[in-house]
Amino acid sequence: MKFGLVGYSGRMGQEIISVFERAGHTLTFKMDINGEELLELPEVVVDFSQPSALVRTVEFCKSNELPLVIGTTGLKNQHFEMLKELAKKVPVVQSYNFSMGITVLRRILREYASYMQDWDVEIVEIHHRYKKDAPSGTAIKLGEELKRESPKHSLRIGGVPGDHHVFFANDGEVLEFHHRAISRRAFALGALKAAEFVLNAGPRLYDFEEVLFGGRV
Ligand code: NAD
Repeated sequence: MKFGLVGYSGRMGQEIISVFERAGHTLTFKMDINGEELLELPEVVVDFSQPSALVRTVEFCKSNELPLVIGTTGLKNQHFEMLKELAKKVPVVQSYNFSMGITVLRRILREYASYMQDWDVEIVEIHHRYKKDAPSGTAIKLGEELKRESPKHSLRIGGVPGDHHVFFANDGEVLEFHHRAISRRAFALGALKAAEFVLNAGPRLYDFEEVLFGGRV
């Protein structure tokens, strides 16, 4: 496939280029904070950048009727409204975490958190020192699965690609779920799955969970 990439010069952008090209796909449109370059119209656009890029990304997808895979975090309500509007025309996959492990963990929490309603629960997330938003989008999504208030703690240290802990505790025991991304490749491989998915999907806003496991979330 021919793909476009918003945020191509970033850490995730470089990983995505490596994974997509290894799978035989070709980068034909690229954009970052310094501008954009169109070699040929892509079949799908992937955006791992900053929320400030979204107006242009959506405009490009809308005017060329291109599906979008978006992993940018720190999105506000106004950004989700733009994505919903775009998804009336083209398929859009939005996720704050394109790793398989976190997607499975969300399912586990959805199913089992209610057994520990009277336990304390807190979320700790650790990311590299350059990450701009806090708490991480993933911590927010994990918190939503708990269906109750959950304090979130953010550490910004070193080069950590992404660590998430969910601690449940009562007076006698602690149950901890821990997911560790050991490489950004995990997210790039997920973005590739989503890009292949949107090529054959109808217009709608999809969760990555639907890409991996089917069904409507
Ligand atoms: P980075 O700082 O290394 O790269 C950001 C990229 O975005 C750069 O190429 C920069 O030029 C570009 N950019 C910034 N503002 C822009 C604008 N206004 N217009 C166009 N391009 C712009 O960041 P990163 O570590 O590569 O992360 C990028 C995004 O992906 C972040 O939001 C991060 O939280 C998110 N992320 C998501 C997942 C996921 O699975 N959903 C995983 C890792 C990172």
